[in-house]
Amino acid sequence: MDPAALLAAFRDLARPGPWLHRHQGGDGPRVVLVVCTHGDEVGPLPAAIELIRDLREGRLQFAGELSVLVGNPEAVAAGRRGLDSDLNRVFVAEPPDDREGRRARELKPILERADLLLDLHQTGAPTASAFYILPYDRAHGDWARALAGAPLWITRPADQAFSPSTCCVDEFVRLQGRVGLTLELSEKGLDPQTEAHAGRVMRRLLELAVDPRPIAELAAQQPEPEYLVLAHREPFGDPARRLRPGLRNLEPVRAGQRLSPEGADEVVCPVDGRLLFPKYPRRDEQGRALPPLPEELYRVVVPPPGHPRDLWAG
Ligand SMILES: [Zn+2]
Repeated sequence: MDPAALLAAFRDLARPGPWLHRHQGGDGPRVVLVVCTHGDEVGPLPAAIELIRDLREGRLQFAGELSVLVGNPEAVAAGRRGLDSDLNRVFVAEPPDDREGRRARELKPILERADLLLDLHQTGAPTASAFYILPYDRAHGDWARALAGAPLWITRPADQAFSPSTCCVDEFVRLQGRVGLTLELSEKGLDPQTEAHAGRVMRRLLELAVDPRPIAELAAQQPEPEYLVLAHREPFGDPARRLRPGLRNLEPVRAGQRLSPEGADEVVCPVDGRLLFPKYPRRDEQGRALPPLPEELYRVVVPPPGHPRDLWAG
């Protein structure tokens, strides 16, 4: 199925709809699952449809309140990441007066009900691994580990201060003192592995949500993710600078490794680590990147000097 057919399938199944399915299965926790916060990251959408179908047809039980959302359906229909703004930046006090801003206003009351949120994304470039991306604190450490959604977690100290300029979906939930997780599954697009992965984590989250055992106990039964923190940001600089083709997100890199193609301005990695978010913007005939230029050409992440719990949450 293509994205348009998937949107139609979601809309047909969702109650009250059109882009929200709410399941009331009991007075357990309130869980919110979001797919397609970015409109071109459609990989988890089939799994969301399957989940709703299983709930509606009684093959899946959940003794709490579950909301399943298509974040930015207009952008899905257009095959774009966003239309006017980036929806995953505008959960601020005063969202912009544009399509994503209006969508954020619609979604906020649903997110305000969440005890637990999982926002499923995909990356723009090929990725060597699925990964979590969110700040570390003990509660999120336990939930992410118990969910076992990815072997890697790109993390940072939990932000104490509210950033006034942007706010993501998961951050909006965390700012209310609830659990908000973001998981990047794979490179954007539809594929059976992503669908299976998304289905597995959504169902596991529902199991964890109603498990009477402490989340720390459930976390201890799963392997610990490998934590990674930012070690280097490479400013984009001159629009002629470029990475050689085919670099994958999270692939290992070494200090001194040349990341630019033959004949181009030299771009050399300064540290050992893993490449994060290599940028391949569209370019003109002279090979100069077209505006708007990304701020960075790439980043490098490395293991932190100790467990994040000891570094930041002790
Ligand atoms: Zn995304």
